[in-house]
Amino acid sequence: MSAGSEQRGERDGYPFTFRCRRSGNCCARPGGFVRVGPADVTAIAEHLGLSEAGVRSRFLSADGSRLRDGVGGRCVFLQDGAQAGCGIYPVRPERCRTWPFWPELLESDEARAQAERLCPGIEPRALGVP
Ligand code: SF4
Repeated sequence: MSAGSEQRGERDGYPFTFRCRRSGNCCARPGGFVRVGPADVTAIAEHLGLSEAGVRSRFLSADGSRLRDGVGGRCVFLQDGAQAGCGIYPVRPERCRTWPFWPELLESDEARAQAERLCPGIEPRALGVP
C-alpha cells in the first residue's frame, strides 16, 4: 500500500528488502482492504478539506474500519496513470505507510509468499547475511 512512494529499506527480522516500484499492485489486491484508525481519518479529512463525517460517508466502509473499494475492488484513492499513484499520498493510512513490513508477513510463510508474488518491490534476503 504505497503507490506513489519512493520508500525503500529493510527492517530487523524481516527476510526481505523493499523498494517501491510503483506498480500499484498493493493498492489493488484482489480481496484486499485498508484498515484505518481515527488518526488516519483525521489526517485524510484535513488533507482533503472535508469533515471527518464527510470522509467517513464518502470513503470508508459502512462500519468505518476500512477504506471503501473503488472501481474493480481497487482502493478508492488509487489513481490511474503511467505509474500508479495514491491520491492522498502525504496522508496515506498507517497500513499503507508500513507496507510490506507487516507482522503477519513475519508470522505466515504463505502470507509472505503471496506478498512477494504481488509486489515487485519485495526482494527476499537471507537473514544474517550482510
Ligand atoms: S490509500 Fe493510497 S497507498 Fe493506501 S491503498 Fe489506497 S492508493 Fe494505495
